[in-house]
Amino acid sequence: MRYYSTRNKNRAVNFAAAALAGLAPDGGLFVPGEIPQYPGAVKSSLGNMDFCDIAFETIKLYVDSEIPGAVLSDLVHSAYPFTAPLVAVGDRLILELFHGPTAAFKDFGARFMARAFAYLRRGEDKPLRILVATSGDTGGAVADGFFEVPGIFVTVLYPKGRVTPLQERQIAGLGKNISALAVEGTFDDCQRLVKAALADEGLRKKTALSSANSINVSRLIPQAVYYSAAAGRAFAGRLDPDGEATPRAEARNVPPQDRAEGRGSEMLAHNNGMAARFGVRGGEPATLCVPSGNFGNLTAGLYAMKMGAPIARFIAATNINKTVPDYLANGEYRARASQATISNAMDVGAPSNFERMAAHFSWEEMKKIILGVSVSDEETGKTIAEVHRDCGYFLDPHSAVGWTGVDKLFTENKISAGPVGVLSTAHPAKFSETVTPLAGPAPVPASLARAKERSVLSRIIPAEVSALIDFLNGAQQ
Ligand SMILES: *Cc1c(COP(=O)(O)O)cnc(C)c1O
Repeated sequence: MRYYSTRNKNRAVNFAAAALAGLAPDGGLFVPGEIPQYPGAVKSSLGNMDFCDIAFETIKLYVDSEIPGAVLSDLVHSAYPFTAPLVAVGDRLILELFHGPTAAFKDFGARFMARAFAYLRRGEDKPLRILVATSGDTGGAVADGFFEVPGIFVTVLYPKGRVTPLQERQIAGLGKNISALAVEGTFDDCQRLVKAALADEGLRKKTALSSANSINVSRLIPQAVYYSAAAGRAFAGRLDPDGEATPRAEARNVPPQDRAEGRGSEMLAHNNGMAARFGVRGGEPATLCVPSGNFGNLTAGLYAMKMGAPIARFIAATNINKTVPDYLANGEYRARASQATISNAMDVGAPSNFERMAAHFSWEEMKKIILGVSVSDEETGKTIAEVHRDCGYFLDPHSAVGWTGVDKLFTENKISAGPVGVLSTAHPAKFSETVTPLAGPAPVPASLARAKERSVLSRIIPAEVSALIDFLNGAQQ
């Protein structure tokens, strides 16, 4: 597969070059020359395949022989000891993307990326240092993904006092090849420092430097996997039983005998007596609602759809940072400053992956397959409380934006036939500061309980480029 910059269709590179560079030299984002198709046999068995097998069949089409089959197979099995269960909640489906170690969907991209980097750099003796600026979630997923990967060191910069105590432990609690810097400043300061260090000639001579932000193709492609898995299962009329970390309220747990696979519509109807508005009868392509910020997740969904996964359409649900819903409505793309909300991982006014969406699809094409909707904090909070009350299920604020988006479009008669699923991008226990006052305490998954026990090993630095460069010059290589 050849990859092109969104800003220059003439210079192609292979997967390794696109992944290791991150951003194209002209500032554009790498996109595959064409979106590959699943072979017929894979397409027709998506509903029965194992998650790792779908990961293998999906990623293979994007890396070709650059990662040989046997290596890729080991790689996906090592990256995904967890899956993405599709469960019934009330009248719809939830695709739970929070069963990974940091309890958010970014684990899917970061864990593959880390392992792909280690393989693609085999034989290199110069270690690689990855710099990441984070406002919270990305740093934890990248730190965890690269933890103990040989030959790669990661430095995460986060704004001191502006991430949650749990996020700080996920970023700064690992040690070994992961170092954490608490910057006395804002997220923007962290990003400015990372950019300056990446461009520093002196540092570059000593060490190979890279970044691991969400625009990297090696983080994007593995995210297509869970769309194909979920749409395949919905099409086959199969749901997954509740997994360990599924945040149901104890008393309302669906009885175990009703959780078996293949009882999709019965389970839907069973749940608290709610009518199955969007039942899983099988044989129908799904509508999937994606809570979105930088739009990497939705872009990966578009890839899965084009590859042949049975997806009817997408809903792009944002908080009040509604640059993309506005674009879908009027065809005019207007980036703006971001506004703070309770779904803060989606506080993005200039979504970087939009450039990728626009490279593949015109406005008319996007309008046919994506419905845009924007949700306020007040509506989000109300949904968290109501879904807990009515369905005994805890939603995190990001997933609640998605749930509310479906409600709004349903009321406007914009969704009708077929199963409707909401991507749940984070576990509610990760955002307990918001969720507990509205719905009570959500059950805490084991990975988060362990992270809470870690101590914070970060070093505090002022928001000055020289402080970062001094740290990196003195750091173990
Ligand atoms: C990053 C993130 C999002 C936004 O995903 P994009 O790919 O940037 O659109 C949504 N929810 C959570 C919990 C996140 O961490």
